[in-house]
Amino acid sequence: MERSAIVVGAGIGGLAVTRGLARAGWRVRVHERAGQFGAIGAGLAIEPNAVRAVDWLGLGEGLRAHGMRQGSAGLRTARGRWLMRTRLADLQERFGEPAFVLHRADVHQLLMAGLESYGNVTLHPGHRAVTVTADTDRATVTFEGPDGLTTAQADLVVGADGLRSALRTVAFPGHPQPEYAGYVAWRGIVPAQRTAGISLETAVVETWGRGRRVGVVPLPDDRVYWFFCESAPEGSQQQIRVTDLAHRVRHWHAPIPQLLAATPESALIRTDVYTQATPLPSYVRGRVVLLGDAAHAMTPDLGQGAALALEDAVTLAVHAGPARSDTEVDTGLGRYDQERRPRTQRLVRTSAKAGRIAQARSPIAAAARDLVATLVPTALFLNTSAGTFSWTPP
Ligand SMILES: Cc1cc2nc3c(=O)[nH]c(=O)nc-3n(C[C@H](O)[C@H](O)[C@H](O)COP(=O)(O)OP(=O)(O)OC[C@H]3O[C@@H](n4cnc5c(N)ncnc54)[C@H](O)[C@@H]3O)c2cc1C
Repeated sequence: MERSAIVVGAGIGGLAVTRGLARAGWRVRVHERAGQFGAIGAGLAIEPNAVRAVDWLGLGEGLRAHGMRQGSAGLRTARGRWLMRTRLADLQERFGEPAFVLHRADVHQLLMAGLESYGNVTLHPGHRAVTVTADTDRATVTFEGPDGLTTAQADLVVGADGLRSALRTVAFPGHPQPEYAGYVAWRGIVPAQRTAGISLETAVVETWGRGRRVGVVPLPDDRVYWFFCESAPEGSQQQIRVTDLAHRVRHWHAPIPQLLAATPESALIRTDVYTQATPLPSYVRGRVVLLGDAAHAMTPDLGQGAALALEDAVTLAVHAGPARSDTEVDTGLGRYDQERRPRTQRLVRTSAKAGRIAQARSPIAAAARDLVATLVPTALFLNTSAGTFSWTPP
């Protein structure tokens, strides 16, 4: 009989695994708590490892159509001195694939396109998973939705429900929740009509201050994405406006003050940053499997959270196998867990560490950080990234 799956959460990981399983012939129901399928967010870096996952899903052409601005990428001080600089072309030469930066909504759209035309996928917006029971060969999810409480059963339940995963909490009761990483991230998009006249000679740049940093990333369609991270207590600074942020960096190098000043207030997104500091003992519990932030929430410091969710999705689809197969589903899930846990948990740790260094607050720590960054040759930086960017689908 044809195998069935329930995917909880229609973020990047959930949509990617839906595509992967649907292509293998599985019947897939996707349940999303939001009233419609879509994405809020700003820019999203798709590094070479994520590009290979997107290719495996058959969506590489759509991704490449968005193009990528060429130029330099690197780190600068608030006054504009370069600490480290590389060309994006070096990345492509070294890893065979370029990096892309897209609006998150475009990535979402790419993953959604034509999903229902598979015929074996159904989408269920407005359904929030509240609990799950995992049996030996099936799992049952209870949803709260427009018709009250409903249940659905499948051979496999995928928890792709993000940082605050309900399925993780039920499958691993008592396991510590992700911890606050110590800083708040604001993100904004400057619309194309407001970027005219602002000089953007670089592709991707992060500028380090003390306890504060700003990243600037031009998007392919003349819009510009920026992020602003600041060390602060959890939940604080709720009332901050773009003008307040612009004031804090008014003496920083161009084009940071100009871009912030050109950002509409309505474009501001504020996020407390978390990390799954206590790794899960497994990503599988019976027929419930976790992926993406639900399994290994990480800080954005490596720009790899969505990339790892895409890798997870592809790996799970490969090991779950075709819908009609003699291979045991549980064997495939065991392989998924064994392959994904070491890599993702290592990157969660590396990312948190990178964030602590980048957010250095004291003058001595910040000066030491800047000095080390200037001493790291580009070749060494690319070597260090090799383990991350070289991933290929199993
Ligand atoms: C400031 C910042 C910048 C970032 N930049 C990058 C970057 O450049 N590159 C990169 O690769 N990553 C980046 N990330 C990380 C990336 O956003 C996440 O790792 C990624 O979105 C995780 O995808 P996911 O599918 O696991 O979860 P999500 O995208 O969080 O999706 C989870 C989905 O599940 C739904 N859901 C939640 N609970 C339920 C429930 N109970 N029932 C039903 N549905 C539910 C949610 O509504 C949502 O649609 C960044 C993160 C932040 C905070």
